[in-house]
Amino acid sequence: MEQLRISPIGNPEKNPDSLLRLFVVIALISTVVIISVTGLVFVEVLQHHVIRNSEEDAINVSSALLATERGRLTTRQPDGSLKVAVAAAGLPEMDRHFRKFLAPFDIVKIKIYAADSRIVYSTEASLLGKVDNQNVRLNHALKGLCDSKLERKEEMKDLASELKFNVDVVETYIPIWDNGQVIGSFEIYIDVTKYREDTSNTAVLALGALAGILVVVFGISFFLIRRGTREIKEIQEVLRKQSITDALTGTFNKRQIELLACREFARTSRRKGKGLSDANLGFIMIDIDRFKEINDNYGHLAGDVMLQQFAARIMRSLRSYDSIGRFGGEEFLVMLPGSNLEQTRVVGQKIWALLREEPYLFEEREITLTASLGTAAVKDDDTDLIKVLKRADERLYAAKSAGRDRVA
Ligand code: GH3
Ligand code: MG
Ligand code: MG
Repeated sequence: MEQLRISPIGNPEKNPDSLLRLFVVIALISTVVIISVTGLVFVEVLQHHVIRNSEEDAINVSSALLATERGRLTTRQPDGSLKVAVAAAGLPEMDRHFRKFLAPFDIVKIKIYAADSRIVYSTEASLLGKVDNQNVRLNHALKGLCDSKLERKEEMKDLASELKFNVDVVETYIPIWDNGQVIGSFEIYIDVTKYREDTSNTAVLALGALAGILVVVFGISFFLIRRGTREIKEIQEVLRKQSITDALTGTFNKRQIELLACREFARTSRRKGKGLSDANLGFIMIDIDRFKEINDNYGHLAGDVMLQQFAARIMRSLRSYDSIGRFGGEEFLVMLPGSNLEQTRVVGQKIWALLREEPYLFEEREITLTASLGTAAVKDDDTDLIKVLKRADERLYAAKSAGRDRVA
């Protein structure tokens, strides 16, 4: 008998469900990443838009104020140049005028600085005369650059004594020019709470729609992949069954019964090594007597039907944990876990009787079959499964030599 070298078919870890699980993880991560990145970009773009619009408004307002109030806001110096300064006497009148002008706009505060960073006018009267020369953004404006920034509620104030806002504002510094020289700066605070709320709502809506689309796309993909993996699993199951069964008789094929025998032998040897008294394993080799004559007399098809009925009889007589496999053409191997030699022989006798007691049927003709059986069980000094199977095989041939139709 040749050496038994068997490995199980298929890798159980390559389950198609793992593909589905991988897809779900990737879909979740992608959704989170896509929504977060899109959200950030969206907020950034909308915020930029709000700032640019407010800056434009602030520049327009400052130009209009300058055009109407240049006289009250500036003083001509002896060298002919203009200086931003407001005479104390003209201040109340200018303040009234400013407030009237600003009323329709969402402007919460205005400061006007002279070139030395001194506040010459502010809608917050207590700031008048204060010098803010630490203010980096004001310094930018005094160098001729417009500078706008979005400030959240109560986020920032330039001067310690300054009042806080309870609205979101865009704070813009706008240089005041005269003859190519910066002579001061406006600082205009525009209330953008409403726009910010609008942009947040728009962002939430857009992201909600995007999330919806992603859920639909990933959802459809999930169901398609799940259907695919189910089909693959079904095919795998069919192939697995095909790969371990004998197509004609429905018993295990040679490879599978050998694999099961190897595993069971290893388990029994281990248990024997531990001194367990019930560590037994029996085998029965069964071969139909003069089967060639059946084929010759009734035809090959009849032979096939006989083989099916023969195998079905043996299968019916076995316990759920016993196994049978087709070992050769008309030869079967039965494995009986837990059975010692005596118990195996008893089962062998039972099978032998069952196989011969009633005739087999082919096209309403009755055909009688007998079989020879060889039994063997694992002994303490059996180091190899092949030794045990060889004993069963030798006994089968002993049964044949002794006249067939018997259990040896
Ligand atoms: P013995 O009592 O010595 O076992 O005699 P036997 O005729 O059964 O033994 P032998 O090995 O000479 O012949 C076995 C026959 O089984 C030969 C072959 O045609 C037949 N056989 C093997 N496989 C199949 C099969 O799948 N279908 C059919 N119909 N016949 C088969
Ligand atoms: Mg035979
Ligand atoms: Mg044979």
